[in-house]
Parts: sequence; structure tokens; C-alpha cells
Amino acid sequence: MSRNAESTAFRSALEVIRAVEPRVADAIGAELTDQRESLKLIASENYASPATLLAMGNWFSDKYAEGTVGRRFYAGCQNVDTVEALAAEHARELFGAAHAYVQPHSGIDANLVAFWAVLADRVESPALKKAQVRQVNDLTEADWFALRRELGNQRMLGMSLDAGGHLTHGFRPNISGKMFDQRSYGTDPATGLIDYDQVAEAAREFKPLILVGGYSAYPRKVNFRILREIADSVGATFMVDMAHFAGLVAGKVFTGDFDPVPHAHIVTTTTHKSLRGPRGGMVLCQPELADQVDRGCPMVLGGPLPHVMAAKAVALAEARRPDFADYAQRIVDNAQALAEGLLSRGAKLVTGGTDNHLVLIDVSGYGLTGRQAEQALLDSGIVTNRNSVPQDPNGAWYTSGIRIGTPALTTRGLGTAEMDQTAELMHTVLTQTTAGANADGTPSKAKYTLDPALADKIARQATDLLAPFPLYPTVDLT
Ligand code: PLP
Repeated sequence: MSRNAESTAFRSALEVIRAVEPRVADAIGAELTDQRESLKLIASENYASPATLLAMGNWFSDKYAEGTVGRRFYAGCQNVDTVEALAAEHARELFGAAHAYVQPHSGIDANLVAFWAVLADRVESPALKKAQVRQVNDLTEADWFALRRELGNQRMLGMSLDAGGHLTHGFRPNISGKMFDQRSYGTDPATGLIDYDQVAEAAREFKPLILVGGYSAYPRKVNFRILREIADSVGATFMVDMAHFAGLVAGKVFTGDFDPVPHAHIVTTTTHKSLRGPRGGMVLCQPELADQVDRGCPMVLGGPLPHVMAAKAVALAEARRPDFADYAQRIVDNAQALAEGLLSRGAKLVTGGTDNHLVLIDVSGYGLTGRQAEQALLDSGIVTNRNSVPQDPNGAWYTSGIRIGTPALTTRGLGTAEMDQTAELMHTVLTQTTAGANADGTPSKAKYTLDPALADKIARQATDLLAPFPLYPTVDLT
């Protein structure tokens, strides 16, 4: 597609929207400007391609398509079938998966689909068999009551939140924590690394139905072969949530023991983080779970979003191209260069570095909370997010960490030299920020002081750093 065609497509779309509600058109335009101008280090964000974005803005949005390809509860789904089948085929080929379900609307939804597929397979199906009935509607009231209790009485073992696990892995504020009796495994306090012996011991003691691997803030590779062995040793189903690092699996940076797909019974992911697709989720699984996974809608999902499945098909096709592997490798090279740049300037990093797309800075080394550091960096044009560190004394709200990641800046084309300059800008901000005090003189976890002139200067330097790497260079809205 030529430069002209992409600009024309977006410009025309905005014109059409502006005729109805100009404020929406303005906000869409302003979002592009903001994204172009910010040094985005949010580890979970990226920039989807123009083709992926355009695949979402059309009449597929109007179609109801409950069911699965070729087996819908609505008539007229032949075109939805085409894009859903394509997305699933690309996903299977890309990840070497036996089965792919591309309907989940988000990562949380993908996890819910996976949890209920496992519960249906391991708890509900045996109960139906025992009662000699085909479906839940045929159970007696007493058997149904007993099954509901049994479904709500299962155990999950996942990575603790402050070690980098995700809320949807059985934590109380999320529905998964209300569904499962959850225990978590942490990391070795000395190294910050997963201690597989400790995971094995926790599994032996707790005997979970599901062992969950995967994270949103762990900067290292995970050995999924070992986790599968642990799951097998206690009869657990092994599930991996690769939402954050799916792009590194797709790009073959994580292979062998570090690729979850051949080792896990079921794998969930988002499609919008390192995978660089539309906002959404996906489930990959072994053949024996496929039927249960395909019941995701209407079990826990509303009707599928055909326009997003079309965009998933486009993004997954892009991820199957050879240049995606190069992109994935550059994500990791950049994260390592950023980590090196920070370390060499004296920063304290959880695990001392990274071998994936993210870096976790322990900002207590700068005398700051995560909240103070996040805000001071934002004042200086650097967009990050605060995050707990292992055994965090400041809890999940203020935190002691800053999580940064390189998928987005790598998409723009920034390389290792720019990562070192980014480290310099961050280090300057963090060393020049001082923690503030409350009115009564006690240390504040939120207040801080940073010379506004310095913040402005850093923000200008961040803009200069981005200037040679325009975002969406083929899209000109003027
Ligand atoms: N799983 C992991 C590991 C994540 O990091 C996230 C998002 O941050 C999710 C699931 C949830 O994804 P979504 O926001 O698309 O529901």
C-alpha cells in the first residue's frame, strides 16, 4: 500500500466521522499527535499497523456470530467464518498450536475461557459421566448443587503479584480469585528468579487443579518444560498466560524450553502487546481441550467481535512474515541495551537485567516510590508505569518499581544507541527527583520535587530522540 493510500484512508475516515461528531474526530487526531510525541516505554503497549487498524473500522462490527466457524447460532455468517478461520489458521501456524480460538475480547476474557474449559473438562465432564447424563440441564437438583459446589472448590497455583504475576491468575480482586482457592509462588529473594524447587514444593503441598505460568512484570525467561513436569507430577493442568511475551514466541526468540506452546495444555494471550495486533485475546490448546475452549462464547464471552477477528487475521499474517522475527529480536536487544544503560549509571534492576522485552527498576535505590518516579518521568515526557517489586514494602498502589518495555519504541525503529540515550534521560530525572513530605513532616509516598525547567529540558530531549523515527510515517492527516 502506498503512502498516499494510507493517508487517504485515515483522512477520509476522519472526514466522515467529523461530519457526525467533530469532537470524536478531533480526539482521534489528537491521540495520534500524543502518541507521536511521547517516549512510550509502557511494556504492554505497541503500535498496530495501519492495515490492522483499518481492518477494525467497518461493517463486520454489525454482525452477530455466536458459535464457531461453520456452526453459528445466526444466519449469514459466511464472511465472519472466513476471517475467523483465517485468524485461527494464522495463529496455529505461527505458534505451532493444535487448536486456536480467536474470539476472546481481551486477555482477561481469554483467561476466563481457559479456566472454564479446564473446569468443564476436569470437573463438569466427570460429574456428567458419573450421573450418566449428557448435559447439565439433565442433572437432578441435588447433583447440580453438588457440581456447582465442586466447581467452586478448585485450586490454582500461580506466580505472586509482587513477583510479576497477573491479577487474573487467582487474585482476590479479580473474579479468578473468587472462583479458585489460590496459592502463589514467588521468586528467590536473593536473585529475583523463579525458584523451580519452591514451585515444585508448593505444588506438592497444595495439589492445584491448574498450575499457571506467565507474568506481566518478570524480566526473565521462564522454563516451561520444568513447569510442565511439575504440573504433571501433581496431576495439574498446565496453563501459560503469554500475554506479554507472545511476540517473542511468535518471533522465535523464545524457543525450546522457553516456548510455552509445546509444553502447556492451554496457552492464553493478548494480541495487542508484543504481538502488535488489535486489542484482544486468544487461546491456544491441545486437541483434548479444543471443544471446551470453543464454548467460550456464550460461556463467558459476549458475541464475537468479527471486525477485531479480521484485524487479528491481518496482524497474525504480519507476524508470520520473516521481518517479524527480526522485530522480536530487536525488542530484546533494545531491552538489554536499556538495562545496561541504566545499570552502568547505577540503577538497581530486579534480577539485575532482562532477557525479554521488559525491565523492572527498583526505584528505592533513588529514594523514591514508584508513584513519585512514574510522575516525575511523565513530567519529563517519558511514559512508564509503576509496578510492585518482589516483597515490595510500598504495596501495589505506591510501589517501589518502574516497569519499562521496548515493543513500542522498537516498532518506531529506535535501536540500542537510542536505548542508551533513553537510559541517560531516565537516570537524570530519577537522580534529580527528591521525595517530598506530608504536612506533618512524615515522608510522602506521592509528593516529590523536580525542577520544572529540567523536566522541560528532558522532555525536549525525548522529542529530539524520537524525531528521526516518526510514528506511522505513511499516515499524513494534514
Ligand atoms: N494477562 C497478562 C499476563 C497481562 O499482563 C494482562 C494485561 O495487562 C492481561 C492478562 C489482561 O489483558 P486485557 O487487558 O487485554 O484483558
